[in-house]
Amino acid sequence: MKITVIGAGVAGTTTALALRRTTHAEISVVEAHPEPAGTVGSFLSLAANGLRGLADLGCADQIRAAGFDVPLQRMWGARGHLLGEVARGRRSADDLLSVTLMRGALVETLRETATAAGVRIETGRRVDRPSDVDADLVVGADGIWSATRTALDPSLARPRYAGLYTVSGFSAGGTDPGVFNLTFGVPGAFIHVGAPDGRIWWAAQVCGSAPAGDVGVDRLATWYADNPVVAKVLATATEVSRPIPHHTLAEVERWHDDRTVLVGDAAHPVGAGQGASMAVEDAVVLSRVLAGAPRDGLPAALADFTARRRGRVAKVLKAAGDNVDAKTAGPVKRRLNEAMMRLFIPRFYEKATGWLYDFDPVAG
Ligand SMILES: Cc1cc2nc3c(=O)[nH]c(=O)nc-3n(C[C@H](O)[C@H](O)[C@H](O)COP(=O)(O)OP(=O)(O)OC[C@H]3O[C@@H](n4cnc5c(N)ncnc54)[C@H](O)[C@@H]3O)c2cc1C
Repeated sequence: MKITVIGAGVAGTTTALALRRTTHAEISVVEAHPEPAGTVGSFLSLAANGLRGLADLGCADQIRAAGFDVPLQRMWGARGHLLGEVARGRRSADDLLSVTLMRGALVETLRETATAAGVRIETGRRVDRPSDVDADLVVGADGIWSATRTALDPSLARPRYAGLYTVSGFSAGGTDPGVFNLTFGVPGAFIHVGAPDGRIWWAAQVCGSAPAGDVGVDRLATWYADNPVVAKVLATATEVSRPIPHHTLAEVERWHDDRTVLVGDAAHPVGAGQGASMAVEDAVVLSRVLAGAPRDGLPAALADFTARRRGRVAKVLKAAGDNVDAKTAGPVKRRLNEAMMRLFIPRFYEKATGWLYDFDPVAG
């Protein structure tokens, strides 16, 4: 069997790697971007569910080595008072610690692992129609703006701006390492985490219309003037990225036809926090379904994959929507939210979120 994967991001590389391990197929990946992945994007975190999938693919150690462990998450009110502390991206009893790393480092490590496993990756080549590809199976892993998805369903509306953008950067240092700090600010949220290189990695998620140009650190600082910790992180910023707008997509009805299937953001952009882990889940589940399929069973296997993933994706999308609501609350609602969070976090947070991290793609 010949398989072509379109896109060499997290979804494309993990899918190629997973299929290489469970099928005897010849697998190639085509990637539109000519440059190495290391130059792209900001940082992200992998949660226990994604790390479980990477362990199944045999590359969890390499990924951990490319980033750093973040065992804890502290949540803060707008003026800097602690709302609660929880295990980061896992249940507290789970020793699979969340990993934070640069998105480029993640993709680069995955590409190296896939290539070493015998996957061919061709960069600088764009494929806009699965019908242009000579393969038995085409996997559309081409991200939120997926042309493969449009080929499957030309009537689906384009992604639209979610009313939220991210500006990220690095600061000089001076915070607890291994703690993911999430401050609910106005307007949006501020994340910062101490890295082993001594710097603070930070990201401001800002609610509002998409900015036409750069959003300077001074502007961010005016929104956090009442919060001494965040104000200090911003005052010592050494690098600031361009704003990255977030987009949402209407539910994708058509994930596959008889020889093409969508994975990762192409099928379900779930927003910041779980997108990479969900892409890994897709990869593992697809590879397991195809491994057990008879030679003429491709259409049924793709339908099986979609049926297995839809429910999980819908539940994660709902949770992501609730997160955005907490970040976009106005000042009055935010104060109410903060009072409720102080009570909720120690008692119920783990019970409410554990299902997300418990998922084992190998079983799923
Ligand atoms: C600011 C921000 C922070 C985030 N933080 C987190 C986080 O902490 N944790 C988390 O799990 N997720 C996070 N995410 C989400 C996560 O980055 C994505 O869900 C994940 O990277 C999706 O991977 P993907 O491979 O599906 O898509 P992409 O990463 O978009 O990869 C698609 C690839 O396909 C290529 N491509 C596109 N079209 C074509 C074509 N026609 N032909 C060939 N190649 C093509 C692209 O060049 C690209 O390399 C964050 C996202 C943002 C924006």
